Amino acid sequence: MSDRTRAWQVIVVGGGPAGSAAAWHLATAGLDVCLVDRARFPRAKPCAEYVSPEASRILHAMGALAPLEAGDAASLTGMVVHAPSGDRIHGEFVAQHGFRGFRDRGLGVRREILDTLLLGRAREAGVCVFEHAKVEQVQQDVDGRVTGVTVRTPEGLQTLRAALVIGADGLRSVVSRRLGLAHVARWPRRVALVSHYRGVEGIGTLGEMHVTPHGYVGLAAVSGGLTNVALVVPQRDAATMAGDPTAYLERWIAAQPSLAPRFARAQRETPVRATGPFASHATRPWAPGAMLTGDAADFFDPFTGEGIYAALRGGELLAPFAVDAVLATQRGDLRGMRRSLQAYGQARRRTFAGKWRVEKLIGAAVAFPSLMNHAARVLTRDRDLADLLVGVTGDFVPPSAVLRPRTLLRFLTR
Ligand SMILES: Cc1cc2nc3c(=O)[nH]c(=O)nc-3n(C[C@H](O)[C@H](O)[C@H](O)COP(=O)(O)OP(=O)(O)OC[C@H]3O[C@@H](n4cnc5c(N)ncnc54)[C@H](O)[C@@H]3O)c2cc1C
Repeated sequence: MSDRTRAWQVIVVGGGPAGSAAAWHLATAGLDVCLVDRARFPRAKPCAEYVSPEASRILHAMGALAPLEAGDAASLTGMVVHAPSGDRIHGEFVAQHGFRGFRDRGLGVRREILDTLLLGRAREAGVCVFEHAKVEQVQQDVDGRVTGVTVRTPEGLQTLRAALVIGADGLRSVVSRRLGLAHVARWPRRVALVSHYRGVEGIGTLGEMHVTPHGYVGLAAVSGGLTNVALVVPQRDAATMAGDPTAYLERWIAAQPSLAPRFARAQRETPVRATGPFASHATRPWAPGAMLTGDAADFFDPFTGEGIYAALRGGELLAPFAVDAVLATQRGDLRGMRRSLQAYGQARRRTFAGKWRVEKLIGAAVAFPSLMNHAARVLTRDRDLADLLVGVTGDFVPPSAVLRPRTLLRFLTR
């Protein structure tokens, strides 16, 4: 309680992968960091729970990879995408064109396990963690510089002060909204239902995506011998599913001739959780005295499943800029603080711009079945190109490798 009344160098809002990674990097760099999350951990998060091969690099740095690999996280060797036409795109996380992942496989791991482990690593690095502490307001001085947050805890409202506030509070970030940075994209507007089943037939080491004219479903093995089932459909279905999301999910699966028999003996093991719409992109990932990272900064669509990597990478990326911003603020150099935050915005753009372009191309293919069918026709014949694209979703092949005109032409001319 007394800890909550003192001033910090950094307050991180949100204890998902973005917040824990940011807090861990900053505490490891020697800053005095506190992290607040409205939830009590372990907490569930609707997610397909695929962790890309390159995410392993940051998990390893944080000391979180070994416990995951020693535990019962599932190993994923690649992806198979079933197009509406019935064609299958099969790509593996293999080294190619000189690009190699930190690991040659991804992981399937329940978010309850992953996020609790990462938050624990942040705690061990010296971060002071307050759970069940919901940020309701962002404090600003007369010039608009962020100076802290107001938090609702079981004991009531409290104000925490810091030189820097990091908004890592997910899709509907209160930090981003209060600072007027939130921008919800008009397209795509999709919603998701996520659950876990035991006993789905034919689940192997490939993550599966089944694309239909009416949404797509991802199936992948995760920890505990379960299959994660993540259905994504147009937002117009939200009203229908709201009454009974479980019945909606089960009806949707039963209507797919290729999937229904595989679920015949499967048992649902966790509640069906709904989330969405997702697509949002902050107008700027910073404001004086504040930074945004993870989904709070941007998220497009679950199809490429790279949100956890982007969250971990975002936390790693922001650390040196955050350190500079804090030190500048402490010496009263507010221009210097602003320069560091601007440089962070530019670094984010350089790091993620290629990924944003690839996500949009894939998003268009998912939205228009004829495009997806064409892509599937090309990629079933061009396995090298399929591996390259899956390498991009594995985060170890740079998006520029598929955005080269010569590579894009391979999609058009086959
Ligand atoms: C259906 C679906 C499937 C997905 N599948 C995948 C996948 O397979 N692989 C992948 O890599 N990515 C996937 N993603 C994306 C991934 O889930 C996110 O990108 C990732 O969780 C972002 O991490 P984060 O830390 O930014 O946010 P989050 O994980 O959402 O964490 C935000 C945290 O902030 C806390 N919080 C929120 N508001 C407040 C507040 N006011 N005060 C205090 N705390 C607050 C929350 O409790 C939460 O703990 C999927 C997303 C969806 C929607």
